[in-house]
Parts: sequence; structure tokens; C-alpha cells
Amino acid sequence: MNARTPDWHVAAAAMQADGRMFIGGKRLHAQAGETFDCLSPIDGRKLGAVARGRTADIDAAVASARSAFEDGRWAKKAPAVRKKVLQRFSEKILAARDELALLETLDMGKPIQYSLAVDVGAVARTIAWYAEAVDKIYDEIAPTAHTALALITREPMGVIGAVVPWNYPMIMAGWKLGPALAAGNSVVLKPSEKSPLTALRLAEIAVEAGLPEGVFNVVPGYGHEAGEALALHMDVDAIGFTGSTRVGRKMLEYAGRSNLKRVYNELGGKSAFVVFEDYADIARAAKTVAGSMFFNQGESCNAPSRVFVHESVADEFLAVVAAEAPKYQPGDPLSGKAAMGAIVDAVQLQTVLGYIDAGHREGARMLTGGKQVRAETGGFFVEPTVFEGVTNQMKIAREEIFGPVMSVIRFKTEDEAVAMANDSTYGLQASVWSHNIDRAHRVARALHAGTVHVNQYDEDDMTVPFGGFKQSGNGRDKSLHAFDKYTELKTTWIRIDGQ
Ligand code: NAD
Repeated sequence: MNARTPDWHVAAAAMQADGRMFIGGKRLHAQAGETFDCLSPIDGRKLGAVARGRTADIDAAVASARSAFEDGRWAKKAPAVRKKVLQRFSEKILAARDELALLETLDMGKPIQYSLAVDVGAVARTIAWYAEAVDKIYDEIAPTAHTALALITREPMGVIGAVVPWNYPMIMAGWKLGPALAAGNSVVLKPSEKSPLTALRLAEIAVEAGLPEGVFNVVPGYGHEAGEALALHMDVDAIGFTGSTRVGRKMLEYAGRSNLKRVYNELGGKSAFVVFEDYADIARAAKTVAGSMFFNQGESCNAPSRVFVHESVADEFLAVVAAEAPKYQPGDPLSGKAAMGAIVDAVQLQTVLGYIDAGHREGARMLTGGKQVRAETGGFFVEPTVFEGVTNQMKIAREEIFGPVMSVIRFKTEDEAVAMANDSTYGLQASVWSHNIDRAHRVARALHAGTVHVNQYDEDDMTVPFGGFKQSGNGRDKSLHAFDKYTELKTTWIRIDGQ
């Protein structure tokens, strides 16, 4: 597909998805020959049969990654050489943008224009950013006595297991692959069983770009099968995990039960969006929260799903939110015009509808939305939904819904707002809206979150770390800090005689 504006329905009908694994540079069936059906959440149609990887397949992928690492075909290449290959990888991702975007949209349901403009661009930028960084990072010499030299160097760890979710399949994979590959590691990637297709294509594209075979392997499969086998593997040096807090906990257990591999968890969120009465443009705050909450069908770890509004401006704020939310009504994800697409599958649809029920049962007042729509398409669509009159103790305020459901809570004082915002097991992101400079800084400092936004929500860049406090995780994706996760720090002492 090379035309700039393809007919996405025609392209979708012609799409033949290859669901075989990618190990040692080759497409392979699972050793047991098993597959599972990959269904599109847009209309329920089968996109292809995907290899159901199990322990034997993970063993083969890890062995391939290990031998690629040990013979130095990638790890011992000069950083400038790795840079060139990864830059080519990034360029080829962009060249395949239509195909990758279509696969992403068909596989997980997001609108095609966002797959094109956000997801493909972001994964290409991520790979290029780490490629460009890797030949500009210096190691250290410690300020020791003259009789010795102490070198402090960073070395690639070896084999990295990457386990990623379905909400931004390519971007999450890219956040692991960029720093892990640039640093010289080999990778075994286990994509979500709900969205495995783009990861498999990324691996093929990487080899076409010159990445040596075996350095980047992909084993699709279920979490409790392929995912568990990877996380328990004795020859995997680190796990870069993005997903739920429930599974993040298991990742730590698997490491404890196996080889104490490093575990970097990027987990769930219930991010607080705190609007004070002194913020001059309440409508702007309300429009921002609607846009951020309903982007990607609300299936974003950092969605601002708990909104705290000062009681004196709450009615004004809610009137704008109620007018904005319907603008995100779900539509046909292939139309190029839908503001929201489909929920990833029938299970997640029921989870979201279950939380909407819980909101009603616990006495919150639904301002707008609340229903499944477009059921006649065979796909899974939910209206953008806003509850107000929520308390911070309600289920819809405490648990991550991972769907288009916003909870609005009124507050009276700054102390109360901060206490409620911090009263969460999560700590991924937060936002404070105030034109009082002291208050803005004070509250930004007081909020327990890996990222705090002031008077905006969507600012983002590869240069800044992304990750959470508390049960939102421990590692940080993005920025140069991500290299810390995929490298070991080594000290080398050299004696210098005759001084
Ligand atoms: P999930 O935890 O169910 O699955 C994530 C991955 O783990 C999948 O590949 C899955 O197959 C695998 N997995 C599941 N059970 C496993 C097991 N027992 N052993 C090994 N692997 C297993 O999460 P999900 O539903 O795919 O994604 C949604 C979650 O991801 C949300 O909680 C969201 O907040 C989180 N998320 C976090 C970030 C972040 O950067 N902090 C970014 C995106 C998504």
C-alpha cells in the first residue's frame, strides 16, 4: 500500500496477517503446532491464526538470543555501527507505516488516523532516538589515587525478556527495544495475545534493516504460558514488563523463583487531575481532561481517570465536560474520522460495562454516556462516560477501569485535594491546574506520581522518563535513564606501578 490515502476498508479486506513466531531471523510455527485465533475488535472477524508459543518455543527463542549475544554479532559491534542499523530500522518502520498502522488498528481497535500519526511515528522516533544516543554516551573514570585507575563502564546485560500489553502494542515494544538493542542486548519479545501482529512485523523489518538474526525474537502466546515461561527462564537476564499491577507482582515472584533476574515493571494507573478555583480558564481544563481521558478509548495507563474539582467551579467544569464527552463518540476505526475506536475485546468490554454498573450501584451520578454502541457491527464499542458525585472510596475511583470512564470528585480545600489525590495504590501521573504559582509548585511537589503536569496534561517527549511511584511500577521507560535498566555497571581496577 503506497498511496497516501488508501481505502482502509479495501486494504483491510486484503490483509493477510502472518501470525507465526519470529526466532533466529525466521518465521516459524509453534513447536507443538498450536495456534489461537486473532480476532478484530472492530467487527469480530478473524485476522489470522497466531502461533501459541509455550515453554519449548521460549526456550528456542532464548537460546537464539543467547548465542547471538555471546558471539558478539551485535553486542560487540561499535556503537556507531549499531546506530546505523537502528536508524535504518526506524526508516523502514516509517516506510511501512500504512501496513503497520492498519495491522495495529485491526488488531486492537484504535482509529486508523491515530495508529498512523501517533503509534507508527512514536515507535520510529523511539528507535531513532536511542540509535542516535548510543554513540554519544561516555563511561567514567573515578577520581581515585594515582596508584590505580578505576573504570566505571556500562555493559549490555545479555538477554532481555520484554512482555508488553495491548493498548499501544508498537509503542510499548519500542520503549523496550530502543534502549535494550542500542545498548547491545538481545531481546525476546512476548506481545499481548490480544494484539500480537505488529510486533511480529517489527521483527521482520529489523532484520531487513540489518539487525543480525537472533538479536530480536518474538514469541506470541498467552501470558500464563509464553509470558510465564519467559519470566521464569534461567537464561534471561532482565524482564522489561509493561502491563497490569496484578501481573507485575507475578513478574517479581517469577524472578524470585528463578534466577533473580532484574524486573522492571511499568504498571497501571489511576491518575489524578486536580483543578483549583484560581485556574483562569476552567473550560480549557475541562476540554483537556476529556481529550486525555477518551484518547485511545480510555485504554491508556496514564488516563486522567480521577478528576478532582474545587466545589466552587465544579458546575462550570462539568457543563463543559458533558458537552465535550459526546464529541468522542466511537465510530468506524477505519473511516479516518472516528474520535474513538473499539474496546480491545469482548472481555474488556464486559469489564468496562461492569465498572459503569458499579458506578450506578455505588450512587455516582452519570452525566453522559454509559452504553455499549455499534453492537450490530460485531465490534466492541462503549460511549464516553462521565460520572460525577463520585467519592474517592468508590470502586470506580479506586480501580483502574482501562476504558472511557471518567470519575469526577468535588473538593473544598487544597489539603483535602492533595490527600485524596495521593490516596491511591497507584502513582503514575497527576496534574494540577492553578494560576497561583506557589500553589502550583506546592501541589506538584506534594503529589506522589512519576510525572506531574501543571496546567496541561499531554506534554510528552523522548527526553523525559515515563513510569510510576508506588504500585504503578519501578523502572522508567524513555530518556537516557532507560539505559540503566538494560546495562550492568562494572568497575575495573587497574594498578599503576612506578608512580
Ligand atoms: P496484563 O498485565 O494483563 O498483560 C500484559 C502482558 O503480560 C501481556 O503480554 C500478557 O500476555 C502478559 N501476561 C499476562 N499474564 C501473565 C503471566 N501470568 N505471566 C507472564 N506474563 C503474563 O495487562 P494488559 O491488560 O495487557 O494491559 C493493560 C495494563 O497495562 C494496564 O494496567 C495499564 O495501566 C498497563 N500499562 C502500563 C503502562 C506504563 O507505562 N506504566 C503503559 C501501558 C499499559
